[in-house]
Amino acid sequence: MSRLCVVVGGSRGIGQAVASLLAEKSQRVVVVSRNLDAARAAAASLPGADHIGLNCDVSSEQDVQRTFEQILRECGNVDYLINAAGISRDALLARTRPEDMMSILHTNLLGTMLTCRASLRSMLQNRGGAIVNIGSVVGLKGNVGQTVYSASKAGLQGFTLSLAKEVAPRNIRVNLVAPGLIRTDMTAALDEDELKRAVPLGRFGEPRDVAHAVHFLLETPYVTGQVLLVDGGLRLAS
Ligand code: NDP
Repeated sequence: MSRLCVVVGGSRGIGQAVASLLAEKSQRVVVVSRNLDAARAAAASLPGADHIGLNCDVSSEQDVQRTFEQILRECGNVDYLINAAGISRDALLARTRPEDMMSILHTNLLGTMLTCRASLRSMLQNRGGAIVNIGSVVGLKGNVGQTVYSASKAGLQGFTLSLAKEVAPRNIRVNLVAPGLIRTDMTAALDEDELKRAVPLGRFGEPRDVAHAVHFLLETPYVTGQVLLVDGGLRLAS
């Protein structure tokens, strides 16, 4: 049975890999990102037909509301929601500008809360659905230069577990994938040769590595409220 999957942040990186894997599994995908052309291009590149790309800034309540109204109008329902939109602005706290703190929290944490809330209407009506939020290993272990980013990801963990409890009686599952160092635009400026030494598996992950974990959580009907690390063992190393 084909599911309607909304992949927020699906135009690049981890979200794009999730969108590709879901499309390969014959699901219908809505790719969402701020850049409309990029979202449409990502949707058009997926295997199969009927995928669409929409623009939405998840840090804006009005944008999220407009986008999910459009999804429900055009597609009818939401079965799966994957929250892969995220930003980082790495800096020591003393040098982090308050406006950057707001952007990180509004995108990574509030944005996910808003899209979950917007999707629930359809999932509650359908008496089922699955959500996977993308956290980070630094939300569990902390990292120098990532105080606000780590806080946003730790917040996502509490949010995910609480929502999982809240909606389990309605047959809706909510899980979190916490990646380590994954090779995307977000990590392009990092010194991979240096940093990979800290990873027990000895390499950065690929977006596809994360996509497989997301797919597992979406498709495994008796799993909810889990935090699944996809970090090559990075958490163990600290
Ligand atoms: P990328 O920068 O490669 O991609 C980010 C995606 O999010 C893009 O599609 C981008 O599109 C979209 N996006 C960003 N801001 C918004 C917004 N306000 N509204 C809607 N869409 C937005 O990042 P990654 O793929 O690396 O990261 C994906 C997720 O995984 C993030 O939550 C990140 O924090 C997390 N993560 C990544 C790790 C890594 O090593 N790469 C490690 C741990 C966690 P556009 O710019 O057009 O809006």
